[in-house]
Amino acid sequence: MTTELHEQLRRAVRDFATQEVAPRVAAMERDQAVDRGLASLIANQGWIGVTIDPRWGGMGAGHEAKTIIVEELSRVSAAAGAVAQASQLGVAKIALFGSEEQQRIWLPTIADGSVLPTIAVTETGSGGHVLGMRSTARRSGGSYVLNGKKCFVGNSHVGGLHGVVVRTGPGSRGLTAFLVEADRPGVALEPHEPRLGLHGFSFGSIRFDNVKVPASAVVGEVGGGLAVAYSSSILYGRVNLAAVALGLHRAVVERVVSEAQNRVRYSRPLGDLPVVQHKIGKMQARLAAASALVYQAASMLDRGQPCDSALIASKHEGVALLLDSVRQGMEIHAADALYSGSAMARLMRDSWCVEPPAGTGDVQAHRLAEGLLHPGRYPDWSERFAGKLAARGAWAAPASTPAPAEPLVLAAADGAPR
Ligand SMILES: Cc1cc2nc3c(=O)[nH]c(=O)nc-3n(C[C@H](O)[C@H](O)[C@H](O)COP(=O)(O)OP(=O)(O)OC[C@H]3O[C@@H](n4cnc5c(N)ncnc54)[C@H](O)[C@@H]3O)c2cc1C
Repeated sequence: MTTELHEQLRRAVRDFATQEVAPRVAAMERDQAVDRGLASLIANQGWIGVTIDPRWGGMGAGHEAKTIIVEELSRVSAAAGAVAQASQLGVAKIALFGSEEQQRIWLPTIADGSVLPTIAVTETGSGGHVLGMRSTARRSGGSYVLNGKKCFVGNSHVGGLHGVVVRTGPGSRGLTAFLVEADRPGVALEPHEPRLGLHGFSFGSIRFDNVKVPASAVVGEVGGGLAVAYSSSILYGRVNLAAVALGLHRAVVERVVSEAQNRVRYSRPLGDLPVVQHKIGKMQARLAAASALVYQAASMLDRGQPCDSALIASKHEGVALLLDSVRQGMEIHAADALYSGSAMARLMRDSWCVEPPAGTGDVQAHRLAEGLLHPGRYPDWSERFAGKLAARGAWAAPASTPAPAEPLVLAAADGAPR
């Protein structure tokens, strides 16, 4: 349930995105390089600290506020939304599992934008099968020595503090999370390789060659790395990616409506064709559904309510609905969308980039089904961390049933029976 404060934040982010981010998009698409300036611009707004407790200098504004920031940035540039979401995902492990000392050292620097945190779990040989990872940390006196390589790390090339999950022993109790400063000897970035989309954002590979860290760099318990990875992904990652998808979805609908109003065929605007209207109506219905899912899930987090399945569903459906709309957007733009420099082509490329992170659609569906078929098999992370997730102070919405951010429209706006 959004408050006036949330709406003020939305206006501020929207203005920032229009004035500061939009003018960078063409160069990001052309150069396909990491835009370091973009990352610091966003971090300097203090928005990476949106969920950080005010006692550490954060906004304490919670997950609906975070969703607004990521959605509004992504509407203008999914790369900008991805910068914000990836670092807020990096916050999760410190906020949820960090010691008082780790929180005191790192959270204020993240909140003020001077350090961007990452989370580095994925490896080429294991992907979404986290337990299949091969990177290791070996105890050596009062230190650990890390070796291995992580890939697809969000903000890899701009992050100052990597949250790295590696093997310290066998089995599911054999993973441990560490905080590793990007400038530690032995930490090396692989050259940035442009991907299909999200140009400007870095999600590349980081090598760890005999990187020595003190034992105090362990986040949570030794052997507790799986919980750190899973809980961060479910509590922050899924709803973050759903917010990127929502911003993209809004941009797709706006692009298509403009095209339907301005492209003339048969001496009339394209939007006069019933088939085009039908597609636009379906898009709007999907957008409303995706918005309702993500804001409902974020609102439940802010209220400390158990909501793991709502978080997972928001990512699953948010991305699936977006990709359906992208397909229709491509159809309506027809050959024009095939210019790789066109706005529709950028939206299509960026949209595909939000399917794998924080778990592919198949993995989300698998996890939702497991929750129904085998209740209790997985911990409910939102219940476990309820006290740490709730929004603070004036950001906390009044206690009533969370309402979707927009009315949920369940059928296309084409006059068909409902
Ligand atoms: C933009 C972006 C940002 C990212 N950010 C980060 C980050 O910050 N940190 C990080 O560590 N990683 C990050 N990743 C990596 C991301 O988490 C992985 O891409 C994801 O876990 C899937 O791994 P994979 O791509 O290797 O696919 P794979 O795991 O190899 O999956 C291949 C196929 O098998 C299916 N599949 C796999 N397992 C199952 C299952 N159990 N049930 C059903 N189907 C299954 C998948 O759906 C997929 O179709 C990012 C990726 C992208 C694209």
